[in-house]
Amino acid sequence: MNTDTAKVIRQTEQYGATNYNPLPIVITKAEGIWVKDPEGNTYMDMLSAYSAVNQGHRHPKIIEALKAQADKVTLTSRAFHHDQLGVWYEKIAKLTQKEMVLPMNTGAEAVETAVKAVRRWGYQEKGISDNQAEIIACVGNFHGRTMTAVSLSSDQEYRSGFGPMLPGIKLIPYGEIEVLKAAITPQTVGLLIEPIQGEAGILIPPTGFLKEAYEVCKENNVLFVADEIQTGLGRSGKMFASDWEDVIPDMYILGKALGGGVFPISCVAANRNILGIFNPGSHGSTFGGNPLACAVSIAALNVIEEEHLVERSLRLGEYFIERLKELSNPIIKEIRGRGLFIGVELTVRARPYCEKLMEKGLLCKETHESVIRFAPPLIITEEELDWAMERIKLVLS
Ligand code: PLP
Repeated sequence: MNTDTAKVIRQTEQYGATNYNPLPIVITKAEGIWVKDPEGNTYMDMLSAYSAVNQGHRHPKIIEALKAQADKVTLTSRAFHHDQLGVWYEKIAKLTQKEMVLPMNTGAEAVETAVKAVRRWGYQEKGISDNQAEIIACVGNFHGRTMTAVSLSSDQEYRSGFGPMLPGIKLIPYGEIEVLKAAITPQTVGLLIEPIQGEAGILIPPTGFLKEAYEVCKENNVLFVADEIQTGLGRSGKMFASDWEDVIPDMYILGKALGGGVFPISCVAANRNILGIFNPGSHGSTFGGNPLACAVSIAALNVIEEEHLVERSLRLGEYFIERLKELSNPIIKEIRGRGLFIGVELTVRARPYCEKLMEKGLLCKETHESVIRFAPPLIITEEELDWAMERIKLVLS
């Protein structure tokens, strides 16, 4: 039994592949916005597992749903029906205003699903010649770590040594409408876009871009596919970040907080003319849409609704950004965000500052070298944000 931080980290580093570089903290317990290490120290979680824990750690209603479902049935595979899937489908369909939903487990798998769907839609509905489909994605994107996702990426660190990459992908600078227009060809089937780029450092596109990009896609019979895996479900202060420009994408990709930080579940949602292109055998996943995940996800979505987490995120996000702007330090280049999805861009490396914040009891993580991301669970209170500000001031003033 591992009891202390040093021992746990030693064992983890001895046997684990080194594809992550975590801060030197071990979390053994968590509740709400707070986590504890083996020595009993308490920290505020300002990362929320990259926005997968929007509802807070171990939300009682989500844990209750998990336990209740675990006592009934956990996995059927899709060879049989089960009683949670339809309820969950209907909930997602109504939330996204879409006719059909396809469940997977992780975000990257849902991105894979979206790419397969738009490609097949291109051949079957748009009439593109076999193997000619093109997908447009944006420089700086993050869509996950599978081969499709890294093929979409512009980041050499994510791609290096993993070639050959998936063909049929075109990259455009994020937020540049004229370049998008020029990039579309008769073979273009979809624009895959994060409405706010999270991993790139909380980058918000120029006002009007999403709306205009959607219109351009419509004019050219190109599907507008929003990767809302990180930005969706309240994180940006709206249910979906696409709502900031009143865009209803042709396809939503959801994940992370869809499982309330308790169980992995992801999906794509779109209308029948798009998702209807899948027939039995063309796509699937043994665990995708399993009863346990669906029951947890239903509870996770209920919590977002019942606790008005979207409105909270909007209100508290504005409050926190205002408070962050009290900081005066020449190394702060920009403070930006929407809802409780906030980036503080520094002129220097952010990692040492995240380490200092950790020492003060605040957990956050650098993204793209120079940005500190503040993305606490959406259940956080104003007083708790003030508590965080005190620590941030100590480190960043
Ligand atoms: N898409 C976006 C926008 C993400 O932020 C992430 C994860 O950070 C993913 C896709 C990949 O999700 P997962 O890590 O669950 O595969």
